[in-house]
Amino acid sequence: MHTPGDVRVEDRADPEILEPTDAIIKLTATCICGSDLWPYRGIEPVDHTAMGHEYVGVVEQVGSAVTTVVPGDFVVGSFVISCNECEICRAGFQSKCVHAEFVAGGIGTQAEKARIPHADGTLVKTPGEPDPEIIPALLAASDVLGTGWFAAVAAEAGPGKTVAVVGDGAVGLMGVLAAKRLGAERIIAMSRHPERQELARYYGATDIVEERGEAGVAKIKELTGGLGAHSVIEAVGTQESFMQAVGATRGGGHLGYVGVNHDVQIPGIQLFFAGIHTLGGPAPVRRFLPELIQLIWDREIDPGKVFDLTLPLEQAAEGYQAMDERRATKVLLTV
Ligand SMILES: [Zn+2]
Ligand SMILES: [Zn+2]
Repeated sequence: MHTPGDVRVEDRADPEILEPTDAIIKLTATCICGSDLWPYRGIEPVDHTAMGHEYVGVVEQVGSAVTTVVPGDFVVGSFVISCNECEICRAGFQSKCVHAEFVAGGIGTQAEKARIPHADGTLVKTPGEPDPEIIPALLAASDVLGTGWFAAVAAEAGPGKTVAVVGDGAVGLMGVLAAKRLGAERIIAMSRHPERQELARYYGATDIVEERGEAGVAKIKELTGGLGAHSVIEAVGTQESFMQAVGATRGGGHLGYVGVNHDVQIPGIQLFFAGIHTLGGPAPVRRFLPELIQLIWDREIDPGKVFDLTLPLEQAAEGYQAMDERRATKVLLTV
């Protein structure tokens, strides 16, 4: 992305092994993320930035210290590089690894090839060569599924719980899928778009709330006997959505927030009196990858439906435009 709104597909030098812990992968598929729209719209700085942080592909080459993947393995990686060995990683917060590095920007996986540092701690191989039909699902695991899953875990979605999901983008929809899979009793999707409401229901939403802000909070309270939801997933990152999520969480409930925050001001007094647990941030997708890959492999979950437009990598600019104009929820780019 040269400047906001200006996406070009250009030739760059093939990546090379720089560290013994590196792997070079040849991508099979990549995609455009809702978070890529922040720089596209000029809200985050961008200057000739290599875009893309979601990826699946085949290992082409490994450094001398890599032990868990070999050339020819099909792999899924997290959007944050991690060693998976340090104290933070071992506690399950790989996105805060002492070696953490965002794949977006420096590496950029909207590309044919990429160098993945800390390959052992970042990549997870699939049980074999995947059928083409599950590649979108595996790609979703790289970020949106892993992020929605983390949000649902952070919100302590589970049996007997009512889960409210703020945001009907790909991550919100994956939060619905995760809440359902984790056994939530009732799942309220907050959405105004008919097609996304339909997808939310497909993934397990039992109720739809179209109201937003204060009215949205009031509606959640009304549906939960005045208490609010046990678990709330925030998957947008705006002032309105965040406060809606805080307001929708019952006292003692849990809020999992994974929408990348921009200029959100949380009034301390409001958070104080809310009396809720909060956990969020960039999702430690690597923690969940082995389990999610297996669920996809066994056809237990089908997160691939979040992709509603597929384009060749050469047409990445059109993909950005389609997402910016909300003509697409999430764009898969074939390599
Ligand atoms: Zn993403
Ligand atoms: Zn680490």
